[in-house]
Amino acid sequence: MTAPLRLFNSLTRELETFEPVHPGEARVYSCGPTVYNYPHIGNMRAYVFADVLGRTLSWKGYTLTHVINITDVGHLTDDADEGEDKLEKAARANAQSIWDIARHYTEAYWSDIKALNIRAPAHWSIATDYIEPMIEFANSIADRHCYQLETGLYFDTSTVADYGRLARAHTEEGEGRIEAVEGKRNAADFAIWRTTPPGETRQMEWDSPWGRGAPGWHLECSVMSGQLLGFPFDIHTGGIDHREIHHPNEIAQNQAFCCTGALSQPANSGARLWMHNNFLVERSGKMSKSSGEFLRLQLLIDRGYHPLAYRMMCLQAHYRSELEFSWEGLGAALTRLKRMVMAVQSVKARHAELGSASMAPAQAEGWTSKHVQGDEWGKLATPLTNFDEAMSEDLNTPVALTVLEEALAMKKVDPALKLAAVEAMDSVLGLGLLHLTRADLRLRPKDAAVSEAEIDAALARRKEARAAKDFATSDAIRDELAAQGVEVMDGDPLGWEWKL
Ligand SMILES: [Zn+2]
Repeated sequence: MTAPLRLFNSLTRELETFEPVHPGEARVYSCGPTVYNYPHIGNMRAYVFADVLGRTLSWKGYTLTHVINITDVGHLTDDADEGEDKLEKAARANAQSIWDIARHYTEAYWSDIKALNIRAPAHWSIATDYIEPMIEFANSIADRHCYQLETGLYFDTSTVADYGRLARAHTEEGEGRIEAVEGKRNAADFAIWRTTPPGETRQMEWDSPWGRGAPGWHLECSVMSGQLLGFPFDIHTGGIDHREIHHPNEIAQNQAFCCTGALSQPANSGARLWMHNNFLVERSGKMSKSSGEFLRLQLLIDRGYHPLAYRMMCLQAHYRSELEFSWEGLGAALTRLKRMVMAVQSVKARHAELGSASMAPAQAEGWTSKHVQGDEWGKLATPLTNFDEAMSEDLNTPVALTVLEEALAMKKVDPALKLAAVEAMDSVLGLGLLHLTRADLRLRPKDAAVSEAEIDAALARRKEARAAKDFATSDAIRDELAAQGVEVMDGDPLGWEWKL
């Protein structure tokens, strides 16, 4: 028996048993990046979370349709609709076209997605590809739910039931920052279409029944999620910063569009479950903008950390807990990952040694919790059941990691079966444990003066000298390396051999 999948719904503040809208399917929408800058690793935490959610839904046997959007227009410098368009601003600052800016940062984001082993969604929906449907959506709700001001078409939040319920479930005042615009009927009302001010031209603007302008950011997500997944779909995800304004506004638009009532029926919001990951925090303050270091994945890589060490760091915390970033913590996550990789490699070596033919068949269609039920798993049945239970209980990755380590440490288990169990668990965790090697995980800062090949060559010479009991040469080589900043680590239990 596999455990029922229970997930925390931010809208009801309860753990709910997942029941798909369409039997056998799971349809998930995740708010994607606004592509005006490189993603901060804190932003990437949201996609690691959404990826683990998607992998868990696949593990539970659902056919997953995942959508992540790319916001290339309409997101103002303040979520609460104040300020200017983030992309227009970046384009002006860089004297580049907005399309070039969007393309550059979209590609940077995709490269981080790949480096973190995040599975590509079924659709990357790009906001500017959906302008027509956005205008149609706005048009269909305009009469009953909107009013026009000089600055654009505004959504009247008093026209839907329970406006702001999602935000109120998590904050005392229940309202985030709001834009002061003259003529607004309610403080929380927001623009769903922003008209270009007279005398101005924007790089991105379109004709609409409310004048030339651009869609509001909240409208974009309502339209793309509804178009690609159909209302109501199963799960909408995002960072907790979206609980205050962006998601309550999406929900209000969805209610208006679908003509649904009170949010006591969560599906009236457009999705059955709303899930949010907590922040990545950096308490030391060393990482502030003033130090000139922007905490993006490439900086971690430049400092010698494999990107999957960051994925490991994310998995070590529950997605609803704050995650504190520190270089020490990242180092510890890297060490933990390396221990796992080394354990897998020794199982592989034993497997090769035994020439064992009993390798449990790899699951071409992907592993599911059903594949790990049964007597053939022997002693591994317990960790596999525990793993399934941990992931099924609101994606408890910290416990799942411990279970995986316990399975790896088990004695007198057929190595073929153990490898299959690791493959099954890693299909959910996504650490790439069967493919990573110890060498992949070496710390190798970008600015290191000495190349890895040189170090390896020196170490090989040293090994020969030691074998010949020529300790003077061996010590000389060690000192030479030390002078170049390479510390030789004889007998290190983690087998690092050397570090810079
Ligand atoms: Zn969104």
